[in-house]
Amino acid sequence: MYYPEPITKLIDSFMKLPGIGPKTAARLAFYVLTMKEETVLDFAKALINAKRDLTYCSVCGHITDQDPCYICSDHQRDKQIICVVQDPKDVIAMEKMKEYQGLYHVLHGSISPMEGIGPEDINIPSLLKRLQDENVQELILATNPNIEGEATAMYISRLVKPSGIKVTRIAHGLPVGGDLEYADEVTLSKALEGRREL
Ligand SMILES: [Zn+2]
Repeated sequence: MYYPEPITKLIDSFMKLPGIGPKTAARLAFYVLTMKEETVLDFAKALINAKRDLTYCSVCGHITDQDPCYICSDHQRDKQIICVVQDPKDVIAMEKMKEYQGLYHVLHGSISPMEGIGPEDINIPSLLKRLQDENVQELILATNPNIEGEATAMYISRLVKPSGIKVTRIAHGLPVGGDLEYADEVTLSKALEGRREL
């Protein structure tokens, strides 16, 4: 190769990240060389610690460094409402809004027959168990507004409705095809406020 081996390795490492091509990876790698050694060490430590110390909450599936997570163990939260989202990043988007006081359930994906992902492959069984064990009055389905997200919401709705729990879907104020995590706080707040019963 054109580069000394340590640089090639660093470039290869950056290329393992999503959205990083060879050019960007090379630019980042050369930038690292200009950083202070102390800063680089902190950066490396942050990478390792994030991977080692973070786990998924055994109740809701959110990323956490303590189990159950800070949301599930917060006694101030309204335990009668569970908001179902696809990704831990969606929980963070919802929390930034500072309006929602209920709990969450993170599916870690959506049902996608095209990709061979069925209900058992995402956190749906653990959601159904929670609904049996906990006193839930409302389930808010906040999966993404695309085909997979809608199919997942419909699937959960059909399963849960016979139990008498109120099932709602966030409003369509969100851009179609867009992910919840990219919605700004006002849009997200309106989508939540405008949720309708399924
Ligand atoms: Zn949790």
